Amino acid sequence: MVSCNRKKSIAIVGTGISGSISALKSLQKNLDVTIFEKSKNFGGILCDAVDKNEIYFNACQYLNPEEEWFKLLDKKNFELNRFYHDKATYSDLFDEDVYENDIAGPLIKKKLDIGLLISLKKSKKNLSQRLSTYPKIIKNNLLEWLDFIKVDPVQISWNAATGLAINRFFFRSNIKELKIEKEKNPLFDNLVGLSRNEMGLKEIDASLPAKGFNHFFENLKKKLLTNNVNVNLNTIVKPTWEKNNLFLTVNNKKLSFDKIIWTGNPTGLIKNYGLPLLDSTHINSKHFYFEFEGQIKNNLYIQVYSKKTAINRIFIYNLNGKNKITVETLSTELNINDVIKFCNQVFEKSKLSIKINESGNIYSDLHKKYILFSLKDEEIIKDFIKSSKKSNLIHGNWLEYGRDQKINHLIKEIENI
Ligand SMILES: Cc1cc2nc3c(=O)[nH]c(=O)nc-3n(C[C@H](O)[C@H](O)[C@H](O)COP(=O)(O)OP(=O)(O)OC[C@H]3O[C@@H](n4cnc5c(N)ncnc54)[C@H](O)[C@@H]3O)c2cc1C
Repeated sequence: MVSCNRKKSIAIVGTGISGSISALKSLQKNLDVTIFEKSKNFGGILCDAVDKNEIYFNACQYLNPEEEWFKLLDKKNFELNRFYHDKATYSDLFDEDVYENDIAGPLIKKKLDIGLLISLKKSKKNLSQRLSTYPKIIKNNLLEWLDFIKVDPVQISWNAATGLAINRFFFRSNIKELKIEKEKNPLFDNLVGLSRNEMGLKEIDASLPAKGFNHFFENLKKKLLTNNVNVNLNTIVKPTWEKNNLFLTVNNKKLSFDKIIWTGNPTGLIKNYGLPLLDSTHINSKHFYFEFEGQIKNNLYIQVYSKKTAINRIFIYNLNGKNKITVETLSTELNINDVIKFCNQVFEKSKLSIKINESGNIYSDLHKKYILFSLKDEEIIKDFIKSSKKSNLIHGNWLEYGRDQKINHLIKEIENI
């Protein structure tokens, strides 16, 4: 007989940041927690790049210390740095070439007729239609850029613009009028950006683990093990659905849980539910890692929009006392010398007195980025979330790009168990 005092059980599939924070929250709720992770470590897409004992952040992925969930990470255990969220943009898409501080998004310096912008209309369809809402100069250049990075905007959902950091467009003229329009028109607010300073918002901080994400996740794993969480690494789970109830099959054993959080790729989960196979659109890319000479005040990332290179972000930071650079790209075909040349040009334009150290450690690796989703996948995932609502699954909020949106959804669901 099952005792009424039995702790409720929760399984968490995936130990990226979403699964790991969910595990901490589940402990706080006194749940019986079991974790499954297919790789040998915690961390998911946040795992560091490591080469010859040098550690690099594999991308610029800040944690947000302003979020409620961040409080689950006690300072003593997790050694998290907090610093000013410093950002900039380099673009040669619309003007000759521009470097602008405090903005991370496509921007245009040319003065445009405000009337052209205010006529933006919402279409719930694809990315191409989203771009058509902007004046021609923007639409045509962004379409050319998407073609250059081999993304077909007709296949991609309107909502997937965030993954490419083109969800808001920044105009550098008519700032006062833009602010007024943003305040009264939600669609306009969604499509047109201003810096925090221009919006009259307070400056925000960002956070990163002082010794890298691998060290952070190792500590997190230790904390979970100390609190009797059942941690299963190198373990792939298979989903089995029976009458709208989810079971997990592990090493041919079918396991049952009161609740199951699925943070990993949902393709198998949805297919086994009886819905069509997802397209799982992704971008194959290469990241480059360097050391640099010079000084920066804060960690800084520069968002790049260029028709000359598929580099999309340059992240300049200090890790374990060393000056490092991670260059994220949207292609596998970049040549290291071209990357160095381009970055040094951007630094010159930015007036940052830094330079890539070409005789220091240099490393590169490949990434599959699931940062976009097709219109078809959007429909299937929405359908799945709706139909499985009454099951024991807590879905991973896969259609939201942002980490905080994913984690906050999971925290809320765990709160309600
Ligand atoms: C390249 C990139 C850049 C991003 N940049 C930002 C950003 O700057 N800001 C932001 O807010 N968001 C960003 N995002 C989105 C956000 O980072 C991610 O949504 C979030 O960090 C991913 O964490 P996660 O734990 O949800 O997933 P993941 O880190 O992908 O973790 C999922 C884990 O599940 C495991 N897993 C999968 N399937 C199974 C299975 N069947 N059995 C067992 N284990 C399984 C995987 O091995 C993995 O460890 C980015 C996403 C990408 C891809």
